[in-house]
Amino acid sequence: MRSFAFHRPDSLHEVSALLSAVTDSMPLAGGMTLLPTIKQRLASPAALIDLSKIPQLSGISASDEILTIGAMTRHVDVAESELVRGKIPLLAHLAAGIGDPAVRNRGTIGGSVANNDPSADYPAAVLALDASVVTDRREIAADAFFRGLFETALEPGEIITSLRFPIPSAGGYAKFKSPASRYAVVGVCVAKRGGKVRVAVTGAGPGVFRVASMEAALEASFTPSAVAAIKVPSKNLTSDIHADSEYRAHLVTVMAKKAVAAALLNL
Ligand SMILES: Cc1cc2nc3c(=O)[nH]c(=O)nc-3n(C[C@H](O)[C@H](O)[C@H](O)COP(=O)(O)OP(=O)(O)OC[C@H]3O[C@@H](n4cnc5c(N)ncnc54)[C@H](O)[C@@H]3O)c2cc1C
Repeated sequence: MRSFAFHRPDSLHEVSALLSAVTDSMPLAGGMTLLPTIKQRLASPAALIDLSKIPQLSGISASDEILTIGAMTRHVDVAESELVRGKIPLLAHLAAGIGDPAVRNRGTIGGSVANNDPSADYPAAVLALDASVVTDRREIAADAFFRGLFETALEPGEIITSLRFPIPSAGGYAKFKSPASRYAVVGVCVAKRGGKVRVAVTGAGPGVFRVASMEAALEASFTPSAVAAIKVPSKNLTSDIHADSEYRAHLVTVMAKKAVAAALLNL
């Protein structure tokens, strides 16, 4: 592993200054993805800028319409939050199903969304719930944020500060998980708000995506059977050691039905 400098600033202003002053520097959240990536020599930053001492990056708050989760909020804190369970239960359920206890005790929502792993759980919820990604520079709509395999709209040195989730009238998340890592082989998130329904799929392709045909069917009838006969084309889906593209296409339908059933129970 190449040596690197380590900085632990205590203000967002200092984080931004370090990220622009030090070439090849990277923000560090829980290190759950970044440290293995460095160990495998897939990344070799000159400096890591630890975000753990910035108070405004953590915490959960809510108004009647919006649930806001700070970027450095760990998965375990989302999973166990009474506020999250009360406002958007699917998010607590999703966070409780990420990885194992060690990952949930270090990994953060901001790190997961910034990383945009094609099998990560949070991107599906961010997209289905029509959330905004708030950064130190702007607010980015979910539809404009995710740009495919590990790609996002973040610019160099831009830091996610929080996620803003509009509170749906119903929502659910279901995933068929890898038994080893618990990453989604396929995960589907469904959210209903004001007569509109959004359906987002993770794990199935090179990046999270919406399924317009399922959204239209669920707007007509918000029941599992409304999506039972809808199959996404397998052509652009992933085939790997976990599942081939045909099987993933099948799983999208099955997980969508389960997500709607969970939404109806408000799980
Ligand atoms: C064994 C294992 C199992 C896992 N299983 C799952 C799973 O089932 N489902 C799932 O969704 N995920 C899973 N993960 C990933 C986990 O959710 C991590 O939280 C996620 O990868 C991000 O890690 P982190 O928050 O520690 O961020 P880091 O690893 O510290 O950072 C990840 C990337 O995001 C950047 N970054 C971090 N924070 C910010 C920010 N605020 N603004 C801008 N950029 C930022 C970093 O520079 C880096 O590029 C698993 C990981 C492991 C190791």
